[in-house]
Amino acid sequence: MYNEALYINADCQVQDALEFVLKTVEKINLELADDTERWLNQIFRERKAALEAMRDDPNLSNPKLDTIRQILLRYYQNDCDSRGIIFCRTRATTVALERWMKETPDLRPLKPKRLVAANAPTDKGARLFRDGHHKIIIATSVAEEGLDVQACNFVMRYEHVTNETARIQARVGNNVLNGNGGITFPRHRAGRARKPGAEYMLVTELGCGAAQRDEINRMREDLMNDAIRRIDRMDMADFTRQVRKHQHDAKLTRQLSMLGKQRELAQRNRRQPEGMHRLLCSRCSTLVCISLDIRRVENVHHVVIDEHLKTVASMRRYPKAAKHGDFDTRGKLNCRKCDKDWGVVAHYNNVLFPVLKLTNFVMEDDNGQRKCYKKWKDVPFHVEELSAEDIQRLHEEDIELIQW
Ligand SMILES: [Zn+2]
Repeated sequence: MYNEALYINADCQVQDALEFVLKTVEKINLELADDTERWLNQIFRERKAALEAMRDDPNLSNPKLDTIRQILLRYYQNDCDSRGIIFCRTRATTVALERWMKETPDLRPLKPKRLVAANAPTDKGARLFRDGHHKIIIATSVAEEGLDVQACNFVMRYEHVTNETARIQARVGNNVLNGNGGITFPRHRAGRARKPGAEYMLVTELGCGAAQRDEINRMREDLMNDAIRRIDRMDMADFTRQVRKHQHDAKLTRQLSMLGKQRELAQRNRRQPEGMHRLLCSRCSTLVCISLDIRRVENVHHVVIDEHLKTVASMRRYPKAAKHGDFDTRGKLNCRKCDKDWGVVAHYNNVLFPVLKLTNFVMEDDNGQRKCYKKWKDVPFHVEELSAEDIQRLHEEDIELIQW
């Protein structure tokens, strides 16, 4: 709601924005509102008087509206039978703009009419011009795509740049107009304008990016027209051949990129001996596992996913399982040779895992250097998170990590 009100305030009059907010606020049922809504409501009530003062201040009229007024007057002074469309960014803006025009004495005779239906019939605009003596239609872009206005002399986009499709729909000439100074920069007139001399213009604040976006759209449109002209000149067989070639190239590129990804994955999964460490029992130096077979579970537990461990460990079941969330401990893990405490056996995702207690091991690197660590975050190798693939592999290869 506030966003919408800000748009209205930027494009129309303070009064319009304020009325929009008031109307919306009235609809809020305070008994059903939560604390935040009530709080916002209270802030609004407190500021209401200040906002009303702003509404009544004639110095705060919107300069963009003055610009629009000047343009329209210029048009209709040259040709009192001109017909035009103004596209706005929101439905509420169309309401406010229509009211502003009706309240402005020299614009009132143009009989502005709003058209906002999503699927307005394509000839609706033309009919409005013909039957209702409306000289100006005010519409949102929702109505735009269906709008096919034959009898149009100008199309004005008011703070409203969409995409190149919308531009083409509007059959453009090209004027960019800035709302602060009211200067027009005529660029080119598109050859396909509906009515000879039909003009396209953008009314926007300087520096808000709308003019640049519009320029980009114009360039895209030129590129597309250029491409269509080239295709028109090609003969059919040549065209088909080129399309095939492009499709083939695109497919090849996709396959190559997939191959690259697979290779990368394979590389990552390959056991690289560099930086690999061996975990040894801190008391009797029995090899427990290598660093690559350790996985992290739920960020705290460190489990081993290699079968070798069960040949060197003794595993004893607890009489009763101890629940720790998704991770429940089922037994004790000890060195088979010296009975050193190695950790526990835990049940997780339907698999029994050996869980290591770091302080009971010593790490040995490639050079035979040994070191003890108190915390997993300090170990000199990276420990991967236990992945769905790891679990799948354990299931598929029927690997049992624990032997009671
Ligand atoms: Zn031991």
